[in-house]
Amino acid sequence: MRTVSSWGRLSAPLHRVVVLNDPGRVKSIVSREYPSGLAHGMGRSYGDACLNPDGVLWLTTGLDHFIAFDDKTGRLVCEAGVLLRDIQRLVIPRGWILPVTPGTQLVTVGGAIANDVHGKNHHLLGSFGDHVQRIKLIRTDGEIIECGPHTQPDWFAATVGGLGLTGIIVEAEIQLRRVASPWLQTETIPYGDLDEFFQLADGSEVDWEHTVSWIDCVSGNGNRGLFMRGNFSDSEQRPEPKKRQLVMPFVPPISLVNSLSLRPFNAAYYNLKKSKAGSAIVHYESFFYPLDNLLEWNRMYGPKGFFQYQSVVPREAGQDATRAMLGEIAKSGEGSFLAVLKTFGNRQPVGMMSFPRPGVTLALDFPNKSAKTLKLFERMDAIVREAGGRIYPAKDARMPRDLFEAGYPRLHEFLKYRDPGISSGLSRRLMGA
Ligand SMILES: Cc1cc2nc3c(=O)[nH]c(=O)nc-3n(C[C@H](O)[C@H](O)[C@H](O)COP(=O)(O)OP(=O)(O)OC[C@H]3O[C@@H](n4cnc5c(N)ncnc54)[C@H](O)[C@@H]3O)c2cc1C
Repeated sequence: MRTVSSWGRLSAPLHRVVVLNDPGRVKSIVSREYPSGLAHGMGRSYGDACLNPDGVLWLTTGLDHFIAFDDKTGRLVCEAGVLLRDIQRLVIPRGWILPVTPGTQLVTVGGAIANDVHGKNHHLLGSFGDHVQRIKLIRTDGEIIECGPHTQPDWFAATVGGLGLTGIIVEAEIQLRRVASPWLQTETIPYGDLDEFFQLADGSEVDWEHTVSWIDCVSGNGNRGLFMRGNFSDSEQRPEPKKRQLVMPFVPPISLVNSLSLRPFNAAYYNLKKSKAGSAIVHYESFFYPLDNLLEWNRMYGPKGFFQYQSVVPREAGQDATRAMLGEIAKSGEGSFLAVLKTFGNRQPVGMMSFPRPGVTLALDFPNKSAKTLKLFERMDAIVREAGGRIYPAKDARMPRDLFEAGYPRLHEFLKYRDPGISSGLSRRLMGA
């Protein structure tokens, strides 16, 4: 047994870790040798979606082979433990790209499907599952299910966004999208308040594939921020930026993100970016994954770890609900410098339990200050509940069960597809088993 933490480092429960590295052995391992457990990829989920305290974790990162790639059609078949980073580095020089990626590329294909992750282009291309054509799933009773949007679509809808609870994904086929170069034409636009943010977001949806904004949740000045948008460009070859990787070398005794550091940091960040506002040509790795160059940055929150709170609320209620949540955060003196505000497009998700839905999503990190932080979340939950929104399970470690049930109306349908041999900290907390 050994301790395993997820990205938020809120706990370090014991697990028996069973490495999967031979696809031919997965069926026997999960149906006979260790028939009860949970798949675990890179552990980039923040809370307990990827943990199975006191139980087995089937570690999938050894299932890391590419199986087939057709560079005429852009169809890629790979094992589920392949990292999105490795896909990008393989296919971009060949004129293709993953259509959707989250803000880190250090995640596995299986993890990206199980959380149906979204990126900066949700308004145009939806979430990861929209581009998956086939999944090979192994259940703990030994059954093998091949599913996709047109083959056993009910199993597909349950598995995309299914939090790893329908079986082990061992293989996936993904439709990539064409791209002319690894460079994006970008614009950074400072905004002074939420009204301006929404004008920018609405005005950018048609012409800009990627949109996202950083919002200053502590300035108290009407919530200023920086709106970033980008399109892939066909600009000529340029030298790739030097890859400088730094590591947060230790866990400081207290969180480095605190009331003393937050305000000056946010002000400095805003002013620095504002001074460089305007157009630029940016490499895709810097644009999509700015945090991947600082390895183990999650350590800066100190030994008690941190929470992420990510909600989505319907567009009609979005402006008021976002304002109210930011108001609660400002009042509490808590907050984060990784505060992201984005609009999701008007499209239905593929998965029964997928997080994205039309509306506005706000994501913030909070150092774990126990009861104080949980109290703030209760106030934010009330706003999300009232607005008819939901919380992202991939980021969650504490949402109340009633809010989960209200936010995911297809939960009862989904439960029929659960694999009885699989459970997680999150499923026990929110589904009772
Ligand atoms: C810096 C950072 C930025 C992020 N940005 C975004 C973002 O922009 N958008 C977004 O949507 N998310 C984002 N995330 C969250 C992250 O993309 C997801 O949590 C992702 O699912 C993590 O993948 P993983 O391989 O680490 O999976 P894990 O966290 O290890 O597992 C995630 C879930 O997938 C299941 N799973 C993993 N592998 C398999 C498999 N082979 N078969 C079945 N189930 C499996 C696990 O059981 C678990 O339920 C971010 C995370 C970080 C740390």
